[in-house]
Amino acid sequence: MEWETVIGLEIHAQLATKSKIFSAAATAYGAEPNTQACAIDLGMPGVLPVLNREAVRMAAMLGLAIGAQIARRSVFARKNYFYPDLPKGYQISQYELPVVEKGELIIDLEDGSSKVIGITRAHLEEDAGKSLHEDFHGQSGIDLNRAGTPLLEIVSEPDLRSAKEAVAYMKKLHQMVVYLGICDGNMQEGSFRCDANVSVRPKNQSQFGTRAEIKNLNSFRFVERAIEFEIERQIDLIESGGKVVQETRLYDPDKGETRPMRSKEEANDYRYFPDPDLLPLIVDEAFIETVRASLPELPDVKKQRFMTQYGLSSYDAGVLTASRPLSDYYEAVVAALGGEPKLCANWVMGDFSAFLNKDGKDIADSPVNAAQLAGLLRRIQDRTISGKIAKDVFEALWVGEGDTDAIIEKRGLRQITDTSAIEKVIDDVIAASPEQLAQYRAGKDKLFGFFVGQVMKLSKGKANPQQVNELLIEKLKG
Ligand code: ADP
Ligand code: MG
Repeated sequence: MEWETVIGLEIHAQLATKSKIFSAAATAYGAEPNTQACAIDLGMPGVLPVLNREAVRMAAMLGLAIGAQIARRSVFARKNYFYPDLPKGYQISQYELPVVEKGELIIDLEDGSSKVIGITRAHLEEDAGKSLHEDFHGQSGIDLNRAGTPLLEIVSEPDLRSAKEAVAYMKKLHQMVVYLGICDGNMQEGSFRCDANVSVRPKNQSQFGTRAEIKNLNSFRFVERAIEFEIERQIDLIESGGKVVQETRLYDPDKGETRPMRSKEEANDYRYFPDPDLLPLIVDEAFIETVRASLPELPDVKKQRFMTQYGLSSYDAGVLTASRPLSDYYEAVVAALGGEPKLCANWVMGDFSAFLNKDGKDIADSPVNAAQLAGLLRRIQDRTISGKIAKDVFEALWVGEGDTDAIIEKRGLRQITDTSAIEKVIDDVIAASPEQLAQYRAGKDKLFGFFVGQVMKLSKGKANPQQVNELLIEKLKG
């Protein structure tokens, strides 16, 4: 039988506020356990939560960026359950009336087409604390620093049809929240994590199959592998006469498999009810318009602009607009050079990105700034150096040897464009290679490359390649 996969993702993006969603405690990552949890985060009797306006602003930003509706009135609810890392015995979340509803995101598929993925809702909620098992033998430690950290839970429609689509969607959403500056996107620290709901159904069946929910996937690779495994598991199960049960599963990256964690609770197990400590959240037009005015140029729009304004391919434009710092850097190089956008793209995507990667550096700490890179490209443009020599100059720039012109002078890299000087080198090469010359003249055209190579070698790469070609053709004719 042919099967179709159906996937919906619930993504938790930790909002980049300084303080928690209902208290003034700090949200910074990595502090000593339990140093950033105040009486409100601990759920002490008699305390009152106060909503962080910044968290609402960030939720609204995402809502506007995905073309969603921002609810003028939304409600915080208590989701009741017991767990040691949840001292209040309930999580404050939004249930029936979330702040964001009915958005969409366009993902690019591998075959070059694109697909619209519906976003059902995005709601604000608080994170729980963390249980620590490693340093405690036969016991668990509880760190409540994370308790009360603002989360935006973004729930997709069951529109995804493969693990690859799910990853494409997750990457796109990741790019979006980082672009908007509402989430640091750090997946290792858990700032952006995903629960994947997966089911299968016979192709052509309209009804969905029973789903399993794989919890807490914190890397794109794990999402892809966990879903692939789960699809296989469900198909095998059904084909051997079994039935998928609705449950929550955990992915084990070491074994590459998902395992049952608990049977899925129904919503009524949580006994949701409006939190009496919090007023309904009312958002007015003025607030929404202020947020709208603060939106940056969004990734898709920027990519399109790069294609039209700079004449870049869809691929190049996609790479260069993957992050705001990279696109800003690129535009600064083009502006400083005053043109040649394709040359700039090649360098920013090529050597510049490679060196950043190699040194594990962010653009902000790049030793070569946009003006310096433009300065180097200007010397290619005016033919002072060749593109090949420019790579050596770039490396020297990177390690702080000085500015481009100083490096070119100091190392004597100036390109040789004087015809008689190049001819002199060519004559030397020809004189030293009588055998190759004879073979070339006898019709072995491939040897042309040999002569070019020798000339470049003898000139230490400094002879202007175009002139070398032209002059060699003439000289080799004899
Ligand atoms: P719950 O309240 O149990 O979390 P929701 O209705 O909110 O369930 O759905 C959670 C996620 O599961 C959504 O992303 C939704 O698209 C997805 N989903 C719902 N039904 C299915 C299904 N049969 N197969 C795969 N995903 C599904
Ligand atoms: Mg849900």
